[in-house]
Amino acid sequence: MSETRNVVIIGSGCAGHTAALYTARANLKPLVVEGHEPGGQLSLTTLVENFPGFPEGIMGPQLVENMRKQAERFGAEYRMAHLTSVDLSKRPFLLHLGVHQVHTQTLIIASGASARWLGLPNEQKLIGHGVSSCATCDGFFFSGKEIVVIGGGDSAMEEATFLTRFASKVTLIHRRGSFRASKIMLERAQKNPKIHFLTDTVVEDVYDHTKQEVTGLKLRNVKTGEVYDFPTSALFLGIGHVPNAKIFAGQLDEDADGYLKTHNYVHTRVHGVYACGDVQDRRYRQAITAAGSGCMAAIEVEKFMEEHGS
Ligand code: NAP
Repeated sequence: MSETRNVVIIGSGCAGHTAALYTARANLKPLVVEGHEPGGQLSLTTLVENFPGFPEGIMGPQLVENMRKQAERFGAEYRMAHLTSVDLSKRPFLLHLGVHQVHTQTLIIASGASARWLGLPNEQKLIGHGVSSCATCDGFFFSGKEIVVIGGGDSAMEEATFLTRFASKVTLIHRRGSFRASKIMLERAQKNPKIHFLTDTVVEDVYDHTKQEVTGLKLRNVKTGEVYDFPTSALFLGIGHVPNAKIFAGQLDEDADGYLKTHNYVHTRVHGVYACGDVQDRRYRQAITAAGSGCMAAIEVEKFMEEHGS
């Protein structure tokens, strides 16, 4: 099966939904490919307090759901699929969504970023068995247990604070002595009596894959070199994200960490292909900036379609 579109949007987080809303209102009938993590990072978060327009805050999943409904109201079409290959060498661009082929005059890449893992020898074997990158998804399973959160940024503070709802004790382990988290989120975590901080410490491995559950960690103090075991029932990672851009390798420019390179805000090196949100933004990475760049990409698509037609 094959079809031809004015615009396809890859990703359904803040940037993708906003691009969908704007291109739908421009009557371009966008197709949104939802991807592996529908709703993006906001769907895995709790209360969002810094998205303007919600004085009491709004739950992340609710915010993205609202955005989607708003885009759908103007005719955006959402498809549960993911991009398996892409050819940007000529227009219309060719996308494969599994066995399904889509040609499109323009492409908006809003594929976001996914959780980073530590790369421990037994980490992958224990995902879903006590190793997690999503406190909101998995916190509930550790009611009354002692757990560990890794990281020193806002994600780690947010996860640690959230997990105190369930856990009897949360140990936040960070590889340095200072934190990159915002002052307000760090202070909130520091004031929480259930959160204990372990700094200058790295995780070397997680036990015990033979039991199919997390029983403890092998830790190393980077200052003293001491290596020791630390009992815990869960390991939550809050160590940032990696951009979902591998599929465009060789066709679009990337920086050293794999973020798509853009000029004039959202233009890639291929005319008619735009990138927005966390897949191209290593600096701001906020819901509101992702939404803003989704709007920019949509306006560029409108201009492109006016100039080049179908
Ligand atoms: P981040 O700011 O990049 O922080 C990642 C943390 O993980 C850093 O402390 C880093 O340590 C640590 N880390 C990275 N790789 C590691 C490794 N291999 N081993 C051990 N530690 C490692 O990422 P983020 O916390 O996800 O935040 C990303 C952006 O989203 C930020 O702009 C943040 O403000 C925003 N955010 C906002 C909210 C909110 O406002 N509600 C919530 C979450 C995130 P180093 O410090 O040593 O590099």
